[in-house]
Amino acid sequence: MKGIVGVIVPGITTGAADDMQQNITTIDNSIERHEAEPVNSAKVRKPLYEKRKKIFPKRAEGRFRQFKWLVMLVTLGIYYLTPWIRWDRGPHAPDQAVLVDLAGRRFYFFFIEIWPQEFFFVAGLLVMAGFGLFLVTSAVGRAWCGYACPQTVWVDLFLVVERAIEGDRNARIKLESAPWTLDKIWKRVSKHAVWLVIAVATGGAWIFYFADAPTLLVNFVTLNAPPVAYITVGILTATTYVFGGLMREQVCTYMCPWPRIQAAMLDESSLVVTYNDWRGEPRTRHAKKAIAAGESVGDCVDCNACVVVCPMGIDIRDGQQLECITCALCIDACDNVMDKIGKERGLIAYATLSDYSANMALATDGGAKPVDPARVRDADGRFSDKVRHFDWRIIFRPRTLLYFGVWSLAGIALLFALLSRDRLDLNVIHDRNPQFVVESDGSIRNGYAVKLLNMIPEPRVITVSIEGMPGATMKIAGHDGADGRSVDVPVDPDKVTALRVFVTLPKDRLEEAGQGFQIVAEDRQGHEREVYSANFNTPGAR
Ligand code: SF4
Ligand code: SF4
Repeated sequence: MKGIVGVIVPGITTGAADDMQQNITTIDNSIERHEAEPVNSAKVRKPLYEKRKKIFPKRAEGRFRQFKWLVMLVTLGIYYLTPWIRWDRGPHAPDQAVLVDLAGRRFYFFFIEIWPQEFFFVAGLLVMAGFGLFLVTSAVGRAWCGYACPQTVWVDLFLVVERAIEGDRNARIKLESAPWTLDKIWKRVSKHAVWLVIAVATGGAWIFYFADAPTLLVNFVTLNAPPVAYITVGILTATTYVFGGLMREQVCTYMCPWPRIQAAMLDESSLVVTYNDWRGEPRTRHAKKAIAAGESVGDCVDCNACVVVCPMGIDIRDGQQLECITCALCIDACDNVMDKIGKERGLIAYATLSDYSANMALATDGGAKPVDPARVRDADGRFSDKVRHFDWRIIFRPRTLLYFGVWSLAGIALLFALLSRDRLDLNVIHDRNPQFVVESDGSIRNGYAVKLLNMIPEPRVITVSIEGMPGATMKIAGHDGADGRSVDVPVDPDKVTALRVFVTLPKDRLEEAGQGFQIVAEDRQGHEREVYSANFNTPGAR
């Protein structure tokens, strides 16, 4: 295939260079024009079962790419390094900062320790994550997909490896169609080997969240880890390698439900990556000729730079598409082109539908005529005052404020619950069989199964006592009490202590049984107190 022979746009001279493999024309030694078709074109939809065409995204340069590198570094850093952070909780609790201790039924997150009955904290965090996602989507579209989704981050990482070994887009296209030489075999084997190492590291990092990381690592490499660890690493290695290395954009397009759901969260004020055809059209590769012929010419030089960087294989100039993950790489690519031809940046930009529609109406004379960029510019070539530009205040609108309000309320409620939660808990179950025992002297005894939950990683002494029914006495199996109504019970750190408690009412005080009484657990030093209102069963009450 021949490359096209140059282009003429204001400020650019022609200097074509054919390249059969790369399919590029270089203009003025500065702008490359790519003969590229969007693989997943919105104009020409592929049949559903057609074989996938590979996408070879070109490396983009620019501020959004920089930001994506930063997000990638931070998210991968958090994922791989978090299990190795230590957090001193004293001698009685694990020192791993983030640990899901399934065996001990605890979740440790730095200074926070969650017990199973406090699972509502996790539910609350999920609610916050949901509303956070609603908030971000309604404000800045699919930013999650474009920057922070694990699929995006790992595909980016796999692409870094692919580019390092096989080269950028054109070299990879060339390699793809090249015969299987030693060089090609070496490159392919190296690439897949590194991908597999990343995939194993990804699966490996996951299991370290569920056990002491240094210990598990030693056990894992010496083949002494539990089978579930190897199975988990195997599954995650396979999914990371297949999703990140082989399937890539297909996961977003065909497997992920989010692109479908997000449509309900966007409105005309949401920011989405937009091709501003009100200034770009009519696009032309021969601007000088067109201008000389008196035709109107838009800013788009049809260089396809935006197409070749797109990891989803689409052309943003075809309009909003489900495949677009709003990674903004096409913005970077086009901004670079605009810089080179001396036009304002933002031919492709984050824009709201309402701004876009208003500018489109301006450029088309209310929709009555084809786009004429002259309608959006003044005589001096600057944008007319009527052109609407992004105003950051649009982010603060009722919808986003509502999401933010719910998100904040959930956060405040969780914080309040966290700061005011008890670290001592008391569970009591009254014996049901028998409900009472008549002693030889006629007194009545009731039994209770009591559990003391000491939710701090320190041992302490809990005083268990009864209040009410002044004639009653209490005994705890295996423990002595001084006054017959209270017993000091030493409890282990971070443990549940089970007790058998017996409360006895003398024969001549049985009328007190109807009042009921309280079982109290108290840490007198820590000023924590838990109370359970109990019934006392007697033959008459039965
Ligand atoms: S069209 Fe642009 S923003 Fe959308 S996926 Fe492609 S490069 Fe990213
Ligand atoms: S939108 Fe920008 S990057 Fe895309 S073809 Fe036009 S000028 Fe080139």
